[in-house]
Amino acid sequence: MFVDYPPSLDQRLSRSDTFRFSCHKGLSCFNSCCRNKHLPLTPYDVLRLKTALGLDSDEFLSRHTLYNIDPRSSFPIISIRMKNNPERSCPFVSPEGCTVYEDRPTACRLFPLARAVALGMEGDERREFFTLLDIPGCLGLREPAVMSVEQWMHDQGLEAYIAMNDPMVDFVLRAKNALGRPLDEASLRRVIVSCYNIDVFRDFVFSTNFLDAFEIEEKMCRRARDDDVALLELGLVYLKRGLAS
Ligand code: SF4
Ligand code: SF4
Repeated sequence: MFVDYPPSLDQRLSRSDTFRFSCHKGLSCFNSCCRNKHLPLTPYDVLRLKTALGLDSDEFLSRHTLYNIDPRSSFPIISIRMKNNPERSCPFVSPEGCTVYEDRPTACRLFPLARAVALGMEGDERREFFTLLDIPGCLGLREPAVMSVEQWMHDQGLEAYIAMNDPMVDFVLRAKNALGRPLDEASLRRVIVSCYNIDVFRDFVFSTNFLDAFEIEEKMCRRARDDDVALLELGLVYLKRGLAS
């Protein structure tokens, strides 16, 4: 899970710090945390989920997500749309657990940790902060298993997610400072299409004069044709150039 601001000094964990936690079906709280949550999705989360579900990105977004604007950055926030049932359960939870486990979002992988990212005063040095969330009723926090934050990150397959998420976070933090104004409608559409709606973005890239207009290197074009992760990286290149103009 992401937190908006770095946690207070006494609550910060580094990668080498340890914590107690184990989550398994034998706990009476099993599945109880997969409901009534604000679960923001990164662009890479959306790509992984929509691919795992075999859905077109338009369909995934309209069926499974909510759209809001972050009042501080004015960038869009896409989050999982909880079910319209009394528990407000996640659409992907089943009695057996998470049905999209291999492709579960960053926030679910980090849980029970949260991670915040900040840029240094010069805007060039990225710093990360972890904290252990206070989760009432989470029996996993009383289990004897102890691990480091680093080990947890590795076990949860977070490296690929962090590698894709952090450049986007850097961009949003820098853009927020550089623009000095909220995103206008056209810029918002650009962000939505290039970050979250990969199928529409692919059409835009390969069915218009986009590649020439933005002078995209041949190598990057080839990769983006074959690989949606590379296409998402191209989306960030487009945003950096497009929002700067
Ligand atoms: S995506 Fe999976 S782990 Fe995350 S809240 Fe939904 S069911 Fe739980
Ligand atoms: S409440 Fe904690 S231990 Fe229980 S299922 Fe959720 S994360 Fe696991």
